[in-house]
Order: sequence, then C-alpha cells, then structure tokens
Amino acid sequence: MSNGPYGQIACGCGALSLLVCGAPLALGEDAEGEAVAFWPLSAIQIGQGADELELLMEARGGEAWRCGRCDERLLHGDDEAGVAVLAGIPEDSDGPGVALTAAQRRRLEALGYRVLAGR
Ligand SMILES: [Zn+2]
Repeated sequence: MSNGPYGQIACGCGALSLLVCGAPLALGEDAEGEAVAFWPLSAIQIGQGADELELLMEARGGEAWRCGRCDERLLHGDDEAGVAVLAGIPEDSDGPGVALTAAQRRRLEALGYRVLAGR
C-alpha cells in the first residue's frame, strides 16, 4: 500500500481535490496547537479542479492552497522547505519518525510550527 495514493483531501464544495502519496515526513502542531502532518510537497498531486486552485501568498511565508469557489484552504505549501502542511494526523501514523532535514525543520519552526519527535 505504500506506493499508491495515501489518500485524498477535498474542499467543502467538492470542486477541488488533492491526492496525497507516500508517507508524511513528520507530525507536529501548528501555532494554535492543532495537529498537523508534514508531507513532501512532491507528494501532493491535483486530483481534480486545477482551474479552481488558488495559491494565496501568506505574510509569514509560503502559500495557502485554496479553492477558488468555496474559499476552503486545503493545505499550506512552502516552496523553500519543499513541505506541505496538512491538518490532522494520518490514520496509519504509527510513528513515522522525523524525516525532515535540519533546514526543513528550522524553516517550519520559523513559520510557527512545532515538530514532534519520532518514537
Ligand atoms: Zn471548494
């Protein structure tokens, strides 16, 4: 199962969906303490709705991937770190460990995220 798409995330109106492949690099929390998972940006593919995808530059850095119809933000992408931040913890997260590079980790922490240590 490790080669196929991990899963799919869709916005509220269903116009935009993204496919997530592979495994997360690490788990963490955002600035508000909500659980997030860090994925390689290259693991994210557009399932449908490429025309609806809007990349919204954020003041702190990186971009929000947003549906142009319903305004829902599906993830935060950071080109500098090459990391996508998705809300929630993957269902099969039996301790993926931390596969982030030191530079990626510093970048994410500079953006306000906290990286949780692996087991
Ligand atoms: Zn939508």
